Amino acid sequence: MTLSSPQHIAIAGAGLLGRLLAWQLLQANCKVTLFEAGSFTPTEPQTSRAAAFTAAGMIAPLSEAVVSDEGVYCMGQFALERWPQWLQALGTDQNYFFKHGSLVIAHQQDFSELDQFEQELKFVIPHCQSYHRVNQQQIHELEPDINPHFNHGLFLAEEGHVDNRELLAAIGTDIISRGVKLREHTPVEVSANKITTETGEEIFDLVIDCRGLGAKTQQKMLRGVRGETLHVETKEIHLNRPVRLMHPRYQLYIVPKPNHRFIIGATQIESEDRSPVTLQSSLELSSALYTLSPAFAEARIIEMDSNLRPAYMDNLPKVQVQDGLITANGLFRHGYLLAPAVVENILAHIFKKDEKVFNDLLMRS
Ligand SMILES: Cc1cc2nc3c(=O)[nH]c(=O)nc-3n(C[C@H](O)[C@H](O)[C@H](O)COP(=O)(O)OP(=O)(O)OC[C@H]3O[C@@H](n4cnc5c(N)ncnc54)[C@H](O)[C@@H]3O)c2cc1C
Repeated sequence: MTLSSPQHIAIAGAGLLGRLLAWQLLQANCKVTLFEAGSFTPTEPQTSRAAAFTAAGMIAPLSEAVVSDEGVYCMGQFALERWPQWLQALGTDQNYFFKHGSLVIAHQQDFSELDQFEQELKFVIPHCQSYHRVNQQQIHELEPDINPHFNHGLFLAEEGHVDNRELLAAIGTDIISRGVKLREHTPVEVSANKITTETGEEIFDLVIDCRGLGAKTQQKMLRGVRGETLHVETKEIHLNRPVRLMHPRYQLYIVPKPNHRFIIGATQIESEDRSPVTLQSSLELSSALYTLSPAFAEARIIEMDSNLRPAYMDNLPKVQVQDGLITANGLFRHGYLLAPAVVENILAHIFKKDEKVFNDLLMRS
């Protein structure tokens, strides 16, 4: 840490960005106070308002490039390198990061969606060599448990995923052991060097705003994009990697999670409605699951979740830096994909490094 680096940093929001930044700053010997409007306890995801707990945890630069741009792809490539490096520092035996690729498949009637996906991929990332078409036999070799009637797909070999809830819990435990000052159930407003709570004002060397959609009170350009998921549990099926199912309305995906669990998501609806999952969405999500394999019929639904993705109008992330205040937001549906780039960029600003990764992409207005 340079002499001019801030000594006591306040972070508003203990979702994905706030937790990761606290973790990195504590490792750099900063004093960190972390303010969270809801509960910090990772075993109570439904009481938290962080989108990070609802997310499926896919780190899918190619699949996400199709709905964004090459910049998101590049930051995603960075994430695939950075996550395993970061997680080594956690020093646990448990593995939270997997790079087994992802499989994109379509029903016969939706082949045009698969073609369209491949064309868009070629358009956004023209020189990419890390995906290839797969036939029925190859699909079976990759994922023996899925329905044999799927006979066309794409295998995106370089994609990954994280066990995100377990990871958030582990980072939470680590930052507590490193001495973070935790202020949960404390909604705040932010300004340069100042945090305002319901009871008063507190001054810091630096404030970092990681409130996700909670920052909308101060950033009117933010919007929430509703996403719904189902969590099921079954021992009848094993998946090695996330599987995306092309669908005319949504790209649905099934992501394997620990303890024979799977998350099926996600709807993408232009609405800031946080109410529970609708019947229509639950039917669409569960029928996608059933067509992937009828053995899912006996799976137990253990959770239905809905939340809002924090997004700007262009669906791209932004970091804004001013004296005494840094804001980072707009990670939309790419939080785990973009967080390493965003966090490393912010650390470079704080510690006044010459090289600030992805500055041109993150600081565009
Ligand atoms: C259904 C769904 C599926 C997703 N799947 C993926 C995926 O597979 N891969 C991927 O990369 N991304 C995915 N995402 C996106 C990802 O979850 C978000 O991009 C990411 O969580 C954003 O991180 P954040 O830290 O900015 O916000 P959040 O994770 O939402 O955290 C914000 C935190 O700030 C707190 N807060 C709010 N207001 C205040 C206040 N006034 N004071 C103090 N604290 C406050 C909130 O309680 C919360 O804890 C998904 C999102 C959804 C909804």
